[in-house]
Amino acid sequence: MPHKLNYINGQWTGSELAYMEVVNPFNGETIATVPKAGRREAEMAIDAAHQAFSSWSRLSAQERAGYLQRVANIMLENKEELARIMTLEMGKPLRESRGEVQYAASFLEWYAEEAKRIYGRTVPGRDASQRILVLKQPVGVVAAITPWNFPAAMVTRKLGPALAAGCTIIVKPAEQTPLTAIRLMEYCEQAGIPHGVVNLVTGDPAEIGDAFMSNPLVRKITFTGSTAVGKHLIRKSADQVKKVSMELGGHAPMIVFEDADVEKAVQGAISSKFRNAGQTCICMNRIYVHEKVYDRFVQAFAEAVSQLKVGDGLDEHTHVGPIIDRDGYEKIDRHVQDALEKGAKAVIGGRGHIVNERACFYQPTVLTNVNSDMLIMYEETFGPVAPIQTFQRDEEAIALANASPYGLAAYFYTESMKRGTKVMEALEYGIIGWNDALPSTAQAPFGGMKESGIGREGGSEGIEPYLETKYVSVGI
Ligand code: NAD
Repeated sequence: MPHKLNYINGQWTGSELAYMEVVNPFNGETIATVPKAGRREAEMAIDAAHQAFSSWSRLSAQERAGYLQRVANIMLENKEELARIMTLEMGKPLRESRGEVQYAASFLEWYAEEAKRIYGRTVPGRDASQRILVLKQPVGVVAAITPWNFPAAMVTRKLGPALAAGCTIIVKPAEQTPLTAIRLMEYCEQAGIPHGVVNLVTGDPAEIGDAFMSNPLVRKITFTGSTAVGKHLIRKSADQVKKVSMELGGHAPMIVFEDADVEKAVQGAISSKFRNAGQTCICMNRIYVHEKVYDRFVQAFAEAVSQLKVGDGLDEHTHVGPIIDRDGYEKIDRHVQDALEKGAKAVIGGRGHIVNERACFYQPTVLTNVNSDMLIMYEETFGPVAPIQTFQRDEEAIALANASPYGLAAYFYTESMKRGTKVMEALEYGIIGWNDALPSTAQAPFGGMKESGIGREGGSEGIEPYLETKYVSVGI
């Protein structure tokens, strides 16, 4: 069984530490072990990143871009290998893992280009004797904490802009999926990224997190994960007024208006809801369908859901893989059982399948007769379950969609330009899919409103959180 190590200051370390097991959620087997690092190792990584910062930040943008492009190329050359690691440690179908490698590499490519476009400004002074220069400079050492559901893309979406801006970084991947992140570090090493510029520690989240939050050398925390942990880190960041970027939970509504292309909406709901077994922060979590097209939508949707094959992500025919772990499974089942007890009807699915303590699946499920009092209509489910509610008026659908503390992604289907324009402006969400169920792409500013986050990743906006703005007033 491979024992993979941490990457600190260009060295593979941590073989002397206690270890954690990495589990294949398809069958519960242990596939590797990684060090259970804590405060000491986190401090070592912070020191290494701090040491490397002065030379890395002084490289030309072209040089930093060159490194990023090389890592992207290595990722793409090893697409199959990386995709397989991802499927083994988190269960998503291989087809989706390949797509994620492509998507993850695109953040490095995009920010390799953006590195060259970090522009300052000159501003006319208050009188003839003053000139003002506005400089953009890297914030310094960045600590990145990432979730398990997109083990490659959530790392590169931070690594790309941080390195492009001239920052150095320590990555702490999720306990469930460290192997993909470790392979990414190996690619960084192969690309010749200087020692200390990228570092990785695996281990106790609270202890490593505390080391990041309490060390003044860490200037910025970039976190993707649950809203609960995000709030905890925001509170901790106050002590040293650290910069924070937060990509947190979601509870995406989907609205199908009466003039929607129903077939397209059904296809969209399938690809958004069941991708990654529904364990996606922007996946549709509640569907509102106009009463005039409700029956048609439910029938076609249930028919399409019945075709989905659940199984091993390594099997090319699988559409829906296992649930990441038992806690995830219990939450999904709690939402489904709560809805059924309160009067919902399972048109299809409604049950899970526990293989053993470390491997479980949930049947793709469609629930009708749901209402806003059911847990599933106001909490993030993170599973392959689609509740469908009917509505009559546009205002009603918009009000239902906005009635959430989350504001990450929302979707709607309409063929009317007038209706669509009104709806896109009324929805309180950072990402809107109008007749589009898969809006994510490196060139767009991904992120949420309300309790879904702070800041944006991707697009030209995505590099800004890694930059300080400084102005110089020159007297002439
Ligand atoms: P999580 O919050 O449990 O864990 C995320 C990361 O935080 C992991 O690396 C974990 O080890 C770490 N962590 C946990 N406790 C910590 C602590 N006390 N201090 C420091 N770090 C700590 O989330 P998860 O279960 O891995 O991921 C699922 C969640 O992530 C969902 O809510 C999902 O919506 C969200 N998510 C959001 C986005 C986005 O872009 N907005 C993308 C993917 C996932």
